[in-house]
Amino acid sequence: FQSKLPSLGTSIFTQMSMLANQYQAINLSQGFPEFDTPDFLKQQITHAISVGLNQYSPSNGIAPLQQQIAGLIARRYGHALEPSAAITVTSGATEALFVAIHTLVRPGDEVIIFDPAYDSYQPAIELAGGLCQRIALTAPNYAIDWQYVTSKMHSNVRAIIINSPHNPTGKVLKEHDLQALKALLAQYPNCYLISDEVYEHMTFDGHQHLSILSVPELFKRAFVISSFGKTFHCTGWKIGYCVAPEQLTAEFRKIHQYVTFSSFTPAQHGLAAMLQHYPEHVDQLADFYQQKRDLLVSHLASSRFKVLPSEGTYFVLLDYSAISDLNDVDFCHWLTAEVGVAAIPLSVFYQDAPADKVVRLCFAKNDATLIAAAEKLCRL
Ligand code: PMP
Ligand code: GLN
Repeated sequence: FQSKLPSLGTSIFTQMSMLANQYQAINLSQGFPEFDTPDFLKQQITHAISVGLNQYSPSNGIAPLQQQIAGLIARRYGHALEPSAAITVTSGATEALFVAIHTLVRPGDEVIIFDPAYDSYQPAIELAGGLCQRIALTAPNYAIDWQYVTSKMHSNVRAIIINSPHNPTGKVLKEHDLQALKALLAQYPNCYLISDEVYEHMTFDGHQHLSILSVPELFKRAFVISSFGKTFHCTGWKIGYCVAPEQLTAEFRKIHQYVTFSSFTPAQHGLAAMLQHYPEHVDQLADFYQQKRDLLVSHLASSRFKVLPSEGTYFVLLDYSAISDLNDVDFCHWLTAEVGVAAIPLSVFYQDAPADKVVRLCFAKNDATLIAAAEKLCRL
């Protein structure tokens, strides 16, 4: 049998969570909240199940959820959308990314992605017959050199995938990045944008999330993707959505209907009610996570790790070059087995990894967990 993805093994998130369990380590590796989803949301889903809302939803998502998403987008980004034409509810952002990539990419097309890159982009591009052009960003700034990107552009580049706030670096794109992107896409009318904004509500220190939804020149050629898993602490439900202009949405839906057809109906009802009755949950998320970040960082102040700035997401990068000469994969194994804290090595997000000695920690954890992990890390 000839594998379609010969170089792929098990995802690093699965590997590190398994290792954390094996050594009973504090798991700051795979990104997921340790705390529970809001009670109201749980009650609404249970209610939906008990009143029999258990059959297929419309393929594009239930109308009340599409409307609530449109309301959220109008409130946060000032962009009015026709929900039934522009918003498709998906089984997590992962499905939305997969479908958006398959909507755009044909055999031989190229897609630009920035390393360190989230792990689901490349396999989806390759399964569509596309080729990845991976452009590396390096520590400590992880900034995009748009001049270099421009030098890599040509007429076969079908899409650019951006991710802000960025997993794993915690960087957020700035106004000058969007201006550069605008200028670039203006020159390449056949190139589209996939904007992974799953951490859109988690930005810190006054950094604003600049959504592609708020830039009409970019949105007209974009698929904007988000995930309720991050926003409502429910990564296991896999409900996300894709927002795109009407014509792109119509093509997206042709594929979506044959990938999953529709997504878990009771969760859609619960999320619609949650968005309607507790809009403040979304508005409070940035402060909530900034406190988590600050707690972890302050407890690491006396450690020998160098903490890199996290402007958003629920991740922070640590440089361990003062502590160990091990490469980052070996360091993460050692850290899990011997120190009792699991982290993610940064090199796995690259095609050609730099020799940076950097690991990623997830701070979506209870305060006591973050303090206990920091105490262990401070002993090194
Ligand atoms: N994109 C990024 C950058 C992510 O971090 C994640 C979640 N780990 C996803 C997409 C996938 O989100 P979901 O769990 O909703 O499929
Ligand atoms: N997005 C999560 C992370 O970055 C993991 C998701 C997964 O395990 N597939 O850690």
